[in-house]
Amino acid sequence: MSLPRIPSSSLRDRIPLSEPHLTESASRYLEECLRTNYVSSVGPFVDRFEREFADAVGARYAVACSSGTAAIHVAMRVLDIGPGDEVFVPTFTFVASANPILYQGATPVLIDSEHGTWNLDVSLVMDEVESRARRGAPMPKAIEAVHILGRPAELERLLALCDRHGIPLIEDAAESLGASFAAGGLVGKQVGTVGRIGCFSFNGNKLITTGGGGMLTTDDERLALRAKHLTTQARTPGRAYYHDEVGYNYRLTNLAAALGVSQLESLVSFLETKRRLAIRYSDKLRNVVGITIPPSPPWAHPSFWLYSVLLETEQQRDLVLERLKAYGIEARPLWTPLHLMPPFRDSRVLGGGVVANGIASRGLSLPSSVTLTELDQDRVIAAVEEALMRPSSS
Ligand SMILES: *Cc1c(COP(=O)(O)O)cnc(C)c1O
Repeated sequence: MSLPRIPSSSLRDRIPLSEPHLTESASRYLEECLRTNYVSSVGPFVDRFEREFADAVGARYAVACSSGTAAIHVAMRVLDIGPGDEVFVPTFTFVASANPILYQGATPVLIDSEHGTWNLDVSLVMDEVESRARRGAPMPKAIEAVHILGRPAELERLLALCDRHGIPLIEDAAESLGASFAAGGLVGKQVGTVGRIGCFSFNGNKLITTGGGGMLTTDDERLALRAKHLTTQARTPGRAYYHDEVGYNYRLTNLAAALGVSQLESLVSFLETKRRLAIRYSDKLRNVVGITIPPSPPWAHPSFWLYSVLLETEQQRDLVLERLKAYGIEARPLWTPLHLMPPFRDSRVLGGGVVANGIASRGLSLPSSVTLTELDQDRVIAAVEEALMRPSSS
C-alpha cells in the first residue's frame, strides 16, 4: 500500500475553510461611496444591489438587510408570527434559521433530516400537517425550509402541501445562493424564489459577501413594502419621527451594498468554481474507504457552497479534523442539531432527530473557497486519506 504524500509546503500555508474573494470593482465602488459621501443606509448602491439581486435570483422584489438573520426575523414579522404560533424548521441547520422564531416568542417545531439531501424530511412535515388537517387541529403559522450547504431542499411536495393548507413557506437560502431545481414542476427556479419569502446571507464565509448583510426576496409587493418599512425603523413617510409600529435598524449600508454589487458580478464564475471543486473532491474521495461523499439529488443543481462529507464514526471524524488542523487546513464539523442545545431543548422534534444526530456527529466540511487551488485541494485530500490510513501516526 502506498501512502499519499503531503507536499512539504503543507507546514507553511494555512488553507481556510471559505474565504471571501473580492475583485477589482469592489475598491472602485467603495471609492465611489467615499467620494460621494454616501456611506450609510441611504445611497444608490443599496437600491442597485436590491434590483440586481432580484434579477439574479429571479424574484420580483428584494429588500436589503443588515444580516441574513435580520432578513429571517423580518420574514417572521411580515407574516405576523408571534406568541402562540408554531413554525416548522429543520433541527439540522445553523442556529440563525431558528433564533428569529424565538425572538418573536413563537414556538419552533423541529423537523428531522432526510438522508437524500440532509435537509428537512418533507414526509414528516406532510404526515404531521395532513394529520392535523384530519383532526381539525391548528396549523403551523409558517414552514421554514433551509437549503443547507448549497443543496436545495425538496420543495415541490412541500410547496404543494403549503398551498393546499394555506401555510406560508419561508426559504432560508442563506447558504445556497445560485442553487436551483433541475427537474419537476420547479425546474429552472432558484432557491429563495419558490416560497412566499426567501432569505439570503452575505456574511464573510457565504458565496458572496458584503462584509455582513442579507436579503429578503418575495414576489408579493405588499410583503416587500412592509419588509422595507420594518428594516427602516418603521418610519412613516411624510411625518417626521413618526413610527406606526415597532421597527428595526436593519437596513444595509451603502458601503456594504457597494461590495454586494461588485460580488454579484462574480456570481456566475464563483458558482462554476465551486462546482468544479466539488466534482474534483468527489472524484478523488468517492472510493476512499471510510468516506461518504455528499448526496446529489438528481432533481437539484446545488451551488456547492461548502463541500461536506460523512465519516464512519464521530471518533474518525474528530481524528480527521485533528489531522487537518495539524497541517494548517481549516475544516469544520457540521452544526449541533437545534434540539440538543439549551434554547431549543423543550421543542418538539418530529422524527426524533436521529438522522440529524447522525449527520451532525459524522459530518465535516472541507476547504471550499473559490480561491482554493488544485494543489491545495490535493493537499487536503492527501491529509484526509492519511488520517484514515494511518490513524495513529503523528
Ligand atoms: C449564515 C446563515 C444565516 C444567517 O446569516 P447572517 O448573515 O450570518 O446573519 C442563516 N441561516 C443559515 C442556514 C446560515 O448559514
